Amino acid sequence: MDKNQILKEFSADPDRYYKVKLFEEQGFIRKGCTKCGRFFWTLDANRTLCPDDGTDTYSFIGEPPTTKRFDYTQAWKQVEEFFVKNNHTSVSRYPVVCRWRDDLYFTIASVVDFQRVMGSKVVFEFPANPLVVPQTCLRFKDLENVGVTGRHFSSFCMIGQHSIPDNGGYWKDECVDLDFRLLTQQFGIKKEEVVFVEDVWAGGGSFGSSLEYFVRGLELGNAVFTEFQGELGQHTTLDQKIIDMGAGLERFAWITTGTPTAYDCCFGPITNHLMEKIGIDSDSEMLRNYFTTIAKNLEIYDDLTEVRKQTIKTTGLTEDQLNRIITPLEGMYLIADHLRTLIFAITDGALPSNVGGGYNLRMMLRRINGTIDRMNLKLDIDELIDMHIDYLKDTYPELESKRQDVKTILELESQRYVESKSRMGKMATKLKDKGRAPSVDELITLYESDGITPEYLKEVEVISEIPSSFYAKLSDLHQSDKKKAMEQLSLENIPETDMLFYKDDPMEFEAKVLKVFEKGIVLDRTSFYARGGGQEPDHGIIAGFKVIDVNKHGGVILHELEGGIPSEGDTVSCKVDSVRRANITKNHTSTHILNSSARQVLGSWIWQHSAFKEDDHARLDITHHSSLTDSEVADIEKAANQIIAKDMQVTIENYDRGTAEQKYGFKIYQGGVVPVKSVRIVSIEDFDVEACGGTHVKQTKDIELIKITRTKRIQDGVVRLEFVSGPTAQEYVKQQEIIQTQNKEESAQKEIKDKAREENKDKAREKIPVFIEKVLSGESLESEGIAVNGKLCFTADENYDDYFHQNFGKKLVAKDDTAAFCGIFEAGPTIRVIIFAGEKSGVNAGDIAKEIASILGGSGGGDAKFAQGGGKDTSKKDTAIQKAKSMILG
Ligand SMILES: [Zn+2]
Ligand SMILES: [Zn+2]
Repeated sequence: MDKNQILKEFSADPDRYYKVKLFEEQGFIRKGCTKCGRFFWTLDANRTLCPDDGTDTYSFIGEPPTTKRFDYTQAWKQVEEFFVKNNHTSVSRYPVVCRWRDDLYFTIASVVDFQRVMGSKVVFEFPANPLVVPQTCLRFKDLENVGVTGRHFSSFCMIGQHSIPDNGGYWKDECVDLDFRLLTQQFGIKKEEVVFVEDVWAGGGSFGSSLEYFVRGLELGNAVFTEFQGELGQHTTLDQKIIDMGAGLERFAWITTGTPTAYDCCFGPITNHLMEKIGIDSDSEMLRNYFTTIAKNLEIYDDLTEVRKQTIKTTGLTEDQLNRIITPLEGMYLIADHLRTLIFAITDGALPSNVGGGYNLRMMLRRINGTIDRMNLKLDIDELIDMHIDYLKDTYPELESKRQDVKTILELESQRYVESKSRMGKMATKLKDKGRAPSVDELITLYESDGITPEYLKEVEVISEIPSSFYAKLSDLHQSDKKKAMEQLSLENIPETDMLFYKDDPMEFEAKVLKVFEKGIVLDRTSFYARGGGQEPDHGIIAGFKVIDVNKHGGVILHELEGGIPSEGDTVSCKVDSVRRANITKNHTSTHILNSSARQVLGSWIWQHSAFKEDDHARLDITHHSSLTDSEVADIEKAANQIIAKDMQVTIENYDRGTAEQKYGFKIYQGGVVPVKSVRIVSIEDFDVEACGGTHVKQTKDIELIKITRTKRIQDGVVRLEFVSGPTAQEYVKQQEIIQTQNKEESAQKEIKDKAREENKDKAREKIPVFIEKVLSGESLESEGIAVNGKLCFTADENYDDYFHQNFGKKLVAKDDTAAFCGIFEAGPTIRVIIFAGEKSGVNAGDIAKEIASILGGSGGGDAKFAQGGGKDTSKKDTAIQKAKSMILG
């Protein structure tokens, strides 16, 4: 949809689309900007330019238009007080991790709180009407602006003012009247300072007019009147018109304080604390000038580097001022901003990682760490986290309970950063050697596969500037790829299947065949559970044929059969494999138990990533930062089995979605988004509550036992628990016991054997003098495993060790210089050979060692009198023995 086209059309009929009662009552005049042509409404008869082009742009810096000063927290109190006084319900913020939409990782606007996707349609569900919400929103597209422009944040509080015209709500007239009074009465801004600009909003198939309101060039809010759907010209009015007013709380604080940047009034005591720590001596007149110019230049130049360059030029900033004040300030603002965003995200259960939305979080922490490194700061991150939370908890009390978790996660991530630094250094050297700067795509690959941030590359001078499209591109890649496609079958005109597994769930029943496909049949009713939510389908028999698969297509269930197929219209008898179903059911309830047990043991960041429930095995993938230790696994298993031992009741109730969300929170969406209005809530008393469409046991004792069989870190930030439950778990324990007994027996036997061999070796050592006497007197040593020919001896008997060979050989040739000895034996993974040859024996020790070693694939060395060698090719052991024997005995 072409926004400009809509704007043209709407602005051509201002009375219908833009003129509100307030404009008439107060005497607002409609004007066209003499520079850009856009239409705006003002009380100032002399005004000729729109706020973007006006001469008063950002003149509030250093000179705020209000007599009262409110920082971030106080500004919200003012906003809340005003709207509550005017019959709005103040709603707590929704999580910044957008669990209720599968096309968004993070909540990007206040209106998203109330949007639910049903098929291809977006519907609105308001917990109250009208309402106001301080919604923390995360946006990563302008990351390079954060800290530099004075007004860009990676997360900000959107004041959401929302209303549905009927049922107690209101429409345009009242909305604009409220917003005007908020500015003038509550905040004390002069009426003449407020300018409304005509605009339109379009998205998700609907559109409407909007009025942006500005004070001294600063856009404070935008009141959107979502009214139409379809293409312009053929559009129709929505059944459900919506007021979607979003305003930036940070900007409300800024306009009243007039600080050089919005950062100075929004991070509580942190800004001053950091200034002292870093030792920045700020010069307020210089900063006022600098940041006012930055704001103006942002409207002129597209590229941030250019904005900064031009600003430095026009304000006449010296190199010294730049290095001593501006650059450190930018770093400091970045640290404060990014840390605040991470606190919200981690509190709401997100983890920094290499996948999905976790990317942006890891990127932000890397930017914090990189900045600390670059500025050579000694900062206590934990202390900064405490300061943020202490400051924010008045507005957002939920941050308090996750204080420690946030510290744990950030500490761990920072450690990883330190560990990766030397690797990054090597990569940077390689890149420098290439002699050309990497492209944006290459930079993205470097970040994604090696975790190397462009800030770091700039730092080590691989690149001179960070390309302005880098963050936008990265954020596009990781914003909304959660959606998955679903195979479609032509099922029109087939009534939805009556799902008996949600009712009395008979294991044997009769049903009518409604439709026969090549791949299966549709019945009018069924107890066969269709694959869904990670739960595998039921098997069994329909009309004498085996049911091998069951799938849901919308509300229609398709049974795949093997061996034959009944005819349309037949009434067939059906039997579900109840043993299989019982096992799967136990595994399903077990995933819920393990999920909450893992959260209890590991931390609040544990969410179900995905799950799979089969007859004889199951797995649960959870979001966790590291591999699990044996003791963590044992603790999770113990906690889970305690829930079984407590025999908790499992209850299933259907709720209206909004009611369920308000009652239990968004934790219910462990299995993902629920695309229907009524949600099925499965609760294991107060231990675990989830929205789930699967089958469950009635009491936790029915599960008997849960055993975790294996765990594995399957991707960055995700750990898999493989487990069994019920009879399979009992069987698993029995098997483990058998294996253990076997292992014990085997190791006992091995111990006996080893002991005997050691004893033999000891005995052999004692026999050395006796053996020597026997050789010298010409007696046979056949029975001792030693072959003798004259005074030449050879042995490969395993009862002789290194000590024996060394001592026997050495002493033998010392007593008789016509004697020689060769021994072959195993030493660990290698086969070794040792040769001693008397001077007059006619044997060359070195030749034998070299020959044998080469047969064994190793090396050997020494001289004619003593040599040794060996190799690892055990398959050649016999060949080596034969060769050695023939070489020494002749
Ligand atoms: Zn203009
Ligand atoms: Zn479930």
